[in-house]
Amino acid sequence: MKRKLIKGAWVVSMDPALGDIRNGEVLIEGRTIAAVGRNLAAGEDVEVIDAAGCIVMPGMVNAHQHTWQTALRGMAANWTILQYFHYVHAGLATKFQPDDIYIANLVGALNQINCGTTTLVDWCHNNPTPAHSDRAIDGLAESGIRAAFFHGSPKPDPKPGEKPFWEVPHPKAEVKRLMKRREFRKRDPLLSFGLAILGPHYSTYEVAQKDFKLARDLGLIASMHCAGAAARTPDGWERLQAEGLLGNNNNIVHGNNLSDAQLRFMLERGVTFSLTPETEMTQGHGFAITGRLRKLGAQPSLGVDLESGISGDMFSVARMALATQRAMDNDEARRETGKLPDTSSITCREALGWITIEGAKMLKMEDRIGSLSPGKQADVVIVRADALNMWPVHDPVLSLITQASVANIETVLVAGEYRKKNNKLRYRELDVKKQQLLASGHRILSELGLAPAA
Ligand SMILES: [Zn+2]
Repeated sequence: MKRKLIKGAWVVSMDPALGDIRNGEVLIEGRTIAAVGRNLAAGEDVEVIDAAGCIVMPGMVNAHQHTWQTALRGMAANWTILQYFHYVHAGLATKFQPDDIYIANLVGALNQINCGTTTLVDWCHNNPTPAHSDRAIDGLAESGIRAAFFHGSPKPDPKPGEKPFWEVPHPKAEVKRLMKRREFRKRDPLLSFGLAILGPHYSTYEVAQKDFKLARDLGLIASMHCAGAAARTPDGWERLQAEGLLGNNNNIVHGNNLSDAQLRFMLERGVTFSLTPETEMTQGHGFAITGRLRKLGAQPSLGVDLESGISGDMFSVARMALATQRAMDNDEARRETGKLPDTSSITCREALGWITIEGAKMLKMEDRIGSLSPGKQADVVIVRADALNMWPVHDPVLSLITQASVANIETVLVAGEYRKKNNKLRYRELDVKKQQLLASGHRILSELGLAPAA
């Protein structure tokens, strides 16, 4: 692969040692970033990318998304969490065939690339058969995105004579089979594997215990939801802690119902938190715990969660998270002191960290992705900042967090390869795949009588 030199951009490296570099350059050699700075010695055989008028930033990390729901876009937008469980998990999810998961994951991942996300944590919990999981991975692989496939189990209503899902441990043999797929075993792979387990909020203690041990024994990240409906095992976190089973391979999604004492012992063990403020607020989990984590010295990563409910654009996610927490902080200051705080409680740079380096840390990949640092993977986004909706830019970080949208995402590189170039996604059969996605969504909704009348 020819070396690439991005020139003339305002580089927002998110690397504390490098900072922001006006009229800066990024040199890419193969899959990695070779240098970041000014007047770099690039040699002769190099492709120069003129990025004047642009901001160059690290590819974003979407730390939590159920990509299998892409064909259901918008349909859950009026549902609370309990309606969502009823209609989606106990209903629509049961109608998915393996190819429905494939097309949803492919198009959902392509949309992430289009929006400037280069790493997607695909929290896939609709895998009733091995074929479903295989097709989910096929979709991610075909898109060209960097992704972590987190394998989970479906959550249908229990049938007579069958064990309910909360009494079934994660299927070890299936996990071991999936881990052997070549996509996870390549040198320098784009795809990685993890577990999307129930955790004590959604399972019996015995199941949680087994799943935590399985993840630890296999050296995998185990991510789990905590919030929504009432906890199945309310004292589960304390018991896991007492048994020494909580560790830095554990990731909690939402966490709205956790106490400060629980957050404290989890953070001490290195547990990470991925928040999805918009779905948490609209579906009824509660307010995001961004501010509570900050008070304990920690930072969250952020995710889209559901395209059946909200937009897949990570800038929107960051903006929502920032505005909500600032509103809560301003409100608290007013109540406690009778006046506003002297300055905003959280900076835009911190919010940009939530969708870049914090996502990398959640995946234990901070040495490879999350910032434009020499030696890291060349996951790079070029943002057209001289466009009408961003011009003029006085501070690139403020402009990114307040104004940027998918319309500004001009070029996206994953591991040094173009996935979007000059505003065009590098995927040939997009129209065909969009039609397949429509057909899939329509069929699934029709089977439950939920498809809108023609
Ligand atoms: Zn979720």
